[in-house]
Amino acid sequence: MIRVRAYAKLNLFLKIYDLRPDKFHNLVSIMQSVDLTDVLDFELTDGEGITLTCSNDQVPVDETNLVWRAAAALAARADRDVGGLKIHIEKNIPVKGGLAGGSADCAAALIALRDLWKLELEDGALLSIGAELGSDVPFCIIGGTMLVSNRGERLEPMAEGISASAKCAGGFMLVVPPTDIETPVAYGLLDIDRSKQELDWKDIAEDYSLIRDSWMNAISTGEFAMLFCNDFETPVYNVWQELADIYNNVRNHAGHALLSGSGSCMFAWLPSVEEAMRATETYNPVAGEVAIAVFPAKSGVEILE
Ligand code: ATP
Repeated sequence: MIRVRAYAKLNLFLKIYDLRPDKFHNLVSIMQSVDLTDVLDFELTDGEGITLTCSNDQVPVDETNLVWRAAAALAARADRDVGGLKIHIEKNIPVKGGLAGGSADCAAALIALRDLWKLELEDGALLSIGAELGSDVPFCIIGGTMLVSNRGERLEPMAEGISASAKCAGGFMLVVPPTDIETPVAYGLLDIDRSKQELDWKDIAEDYSLIRDSWMNAISTGEFAMLFCNDFETPVYNVWQELADIYNNVRNHAGHALLSGSGSCMFAWLPSVEEAMRATETYNPVAGEVAIAVFPAKSGVEILE
């Protein structure tokens, strides 16, 4: 048996600038792992095939689950059968919240099964299998603080992670609305017309220096909110009025707010642990949302036992 922890992510910056011929989107993002985690157990059995259970009944437990798909893809790559496998997901990461819960589980499955099946596969091979399964999966395999670009497969660690500087010893107030957003629906709301874009994001994604400079600036002042940007915000708040109301409420409470991924979760950055806890405890919901304090994490997957 092997038990692994899979970390949720927040997007501190997210620009979607192009639709590719393969139907994936090109993006530039700063992603941050946070200590909100699913716990997954993997066990070899004598039977044939996968038995999957999950503590959250919103999550499919068939071959569409990203954990199942990860097992099938890894077995195919290693030229072996899946064999008998019992998997349980203890789900703590909100589903369809823009926190990459499915991708985190997928990353955890790739790492756990490489171990359990004793495969001689380098991290690079896991990253390329992960990239085929979803844009957020490569980041979730590594985690920490990363600049992510292209369709999600190009990763570069930030020179200093968010928790490496004394000025950044803070945390996030994460707000989980009752509204779910299907990622493909949110992508359908984006107006991606490169001719209307003021900056050439393809160039920025190639050379990284503009984003890296902004990041170092934020690290040195401890003011991450100055980086905050997410292309999904306007279209998502135009469609879901309750999310616009929650966004305004978070902003009034913490001074700023940002949507994570394609939503629906939002967050604010507080410059100390105490302020993150206090902001969370004193948050008054306006539309059934729940606030939780979460803190930066250094990895995407952790093997527990
Ligand atoms: P992202 O931030 O990567 O866009 P998300 O956090 O918005 O994703 P998820 O919770 O990852 O959304 O779920 C997205 C979809 O994936 C849902 O439709 C869900 O049914 C499906 N799914 C497949 N496997 C899983 C899994 N292990 N955990 C959660 N959802 C899963």
